[in-house]
Amino acid sequence: MTDLNTLKARGIIAQKQEGYFALRFLSNAGYFTAEEMMNLTEVARKYGNGELGLTSRLTLEIPYIKAEQLEEVLAFCEEKNLKIGGGGTSVRAILTCKGTVCKHGLADTNRITRAMDKQFFGRLLPGKFKISVLGCPNSYGKAQGNDLAFLAVREVKLDEEACIHCKKCVKVCPDGAFEIGESTLALRDEKCSRCGKCMPVCPVDALRSDNIEFLVFLGGRLGRKARLATPCKCKIQAEEINAVTEKVLAFYSEHAGSKERFAEVIERIGLETVEQAIFG
Ligand code: SF4
Ligand code: SF4
Repeated sequence: MTDLNTLKARGIIAQKQEGYFALRFLSNAGYFTAEEMMNLTEVARKYGNGELGLTSRLTLEIPYIKAEQLEEVLAFCEEKNLKIGGGGTSVRAILTCKGTVCKHGLADTNRITRAMDKQFFGRLLPGKFKISVLGCPNSYGKAQGNDLAFLAVREVKLDEEACIHCKKCVKVCPDGAFEIGESTLALRDEKCSRCGKCMPVCPVDALRSDNIEFLVFLGGRLGRKARLATPCKCKIQAEEINAVTEKVLAFYSEHAGSKERFAEVIERIGLETVEQAIFG
């Protein structure tokens, strides 16, 4: 039999229960079709113990598949076009949020993630590499735990002359970023998380924004040696995400030792040097 690490890299994970495996199925940016779900249910019922487990990276695992039935299950999965994978020293399943449909979402996270999955998923690297695409500042903490993350923000400007001091924006701002005087209003840049929630409530269009940009987080990781990434100085446009990802992966491939995470490379080389190499 192929060794267990090779199997794991293919999404076939040996359980601690001797002779049993869990299969890891890949979603399409967090979604399975109804038909896929029915086929997955059939796998769980026929070959597993009837349970389907969710993972933190939007994949789905079906445990308790007997070693002697693996070939048969894999043939069924291929016939039904159910994709397995998401292990090993490679780009893992790209994590995203529901930004495409969520009322807080500032970006079409689904479209961006699917395009990234096509280009980057499974690319072999010195170590595992986790990427996320997130649609608003509510996911800040989620972004911080990834090797590379993109988080959509909206830069809001206040037109003080147009403002009629109705205070509607003050009430909806989750960060207390507005400072109100008797007949004045100021937006405190250092407090604003760039969520854009204040814009739609303004009755006179005094809160404006030119475009949605993305913060770029480098070198986060969870696990035993957690490191929370902070955003780089540069913000980028949606169209630049894949090009920046290519640069980051090239840098990581060139500078990382075997199984060294990007967080460790950054600690060793220094964030400023890494940022300079990627953004110029
Ligand atoms: S963008 Fe968000 S955090 Fe900033 S002022 Fe508006 S509501 Fe407050
Ligand atoms: S909602 Fe608009 S008009 Fe009302 S206080 Fe805020 S910026 Fe001024």
